[in-house]
Amino acid sequence: MSFKKLGLSDALLKAVSEKGYTTPSPIQEKAIPQVLKGRDVLASAQTGTGKTAGFTLPMLQIITENPHRGKRKIRALVLTPTRELAAQIYDNVREYSKYLDVKSTVIFGGVNQNPQVRTIRQGIDILVATPGRLLDLENQGLLSLSNIEFLVLDEADRMLDMGFIHDIKKVLKLIPEKRQNLLFSATFSKEIKSLANNFLTNPILVEATPENTTAEKVEQKTYRVDKSRKTELITKFIKDGNWDQVLVFTRTKHGANRLSQKLDKAGITSAAIHGNKTQNARVKALDGFKSGKIRVLVATDIAARGLDIPLLPHVINYELPNVPEDYVHRIGRTGRAGASGQAISLVGVDEVEYVRGIEKLLGEKLQSEVVEGFQPTDTIEQLKKEAAENKARHQKGRRNARGGSQKSNSRPSSGDRKSKTTASRRRR
Ligand code: AMP
Repeated sequence: MSFKKLGLSDALLKAVSEKGYTTPSPIQEKAIPQVLKGRDVLASAQTGTGKTAGFTLPMLQIITENPHRGKRKIRALVLTPTRELAAQIYDNVREYSKYLDVKSTVIFGGVNQNPQVRTIRQGIDILVATPGRLLDLENQGLLSLSNIEFLVLDEADRMLDMGFIHDIKKVLKLIPEKRQNLLFSATFSKEIKSLANNFLTNPILVEATPENTTAEKVEQKTYRVDKSRKTELITKFIKDGNWDQVLVFTRTKHGANRLSQKLDKAGITSAAIHGNKTQNARVKALDGFKSGKIRVLVATDIAARGLDIPLLPHVINYELPNVPEDYVHRIGRTGRAGASGQAISLVGVDEVEYVRGIEKLLGEKLQSEVVEGFQPTDTIEQLKKEAAENKARHQKGRRNARGGSQKSNSRPSSGDRKSKTTASRRRR
């Protein structure tokens, strides 16, 4: 199958060929002709499947087939959960529209709105946005959504996880009812199905691959190890294997910072990327990682979601996620575009349950090993006792810091997955 057979215009084919793509990926092969026919599409696809081109190419074709009259108005809207994903999709839109008369831009929170507003005022056809900033600008009367003909919800499952459902509903009320809709999601929970029922019209269902096929290209290993020795073991893997581009996942932002500092101390250049970092810091870390200046990128699930890091050879789960689907997303960062990759998970005694959940989702057992000199000795009881002691110490420290006063500004520390309202507010 060639891109030409999918019905794409010469201008798009030229841009695709300049990207070096020769054959469409399965999701592109299935989705592109349906979108070009004008159908609503419900697509099951995760990062790494080529889904971005799967919706961007036909969207560009549809927008240009019917050229704008007078001043450009926003006719296509792509909603994404994170700033990084928005920036990445925008990069793709720009590259693929190189030979087309199309103007596009991207908006997200955490940065000054004025340059974004200026670009929109000049007239654009396609807008890539995170929900918070989009609604902010709309509320201020700085953009209009009343001419939208084409709507894409990308990574819809993650949008719901991050508490964006109300924002999405608000956006749906602001855009015309008659439009073409695409919904991309890696998983299909009850909530996603209900969202799909709400806003898709007679959709075609397309599946990139079953949920776990990305995992098949990846060599997966788990290592049982004590919690307190995980950093030492990671350092050993990276140094012994001479690995120079490693993505490491932690469960919390604090954990990401701590690990990154320890790796730096051990002589391994690294950066942490998570929801508390400014947009500039995240972009800088990702650029440094891509260019090879930074050897290890330590990330939380939400921050890493959707990052386009091609041909990543190694992914390490410093801690396992408690949601098995997140494991599949994490290891989907390696073994891309036909290349093989390696995914290593460090498993403390308290994480063995998570391995079971992951194995159930994958339908296979994961290889479990112990590195010589790193035989685990922790027991669940001991970890529970330590956690209780830490908590008591922490509470005592807070009481002392308050000095008996009832007024306290201290807030509990938290990971990326805290309350949905906070997460949603923070992303605006
Ligand atoms: P995505 O799933 O959209 O994040 O894409 C994953 C990666 O695959 C990106 O680096 C794309 O540039 C690349 N890609 C997308 N489509 C193709 C294709 N047809 N052939 C080769 N690489 C592709």
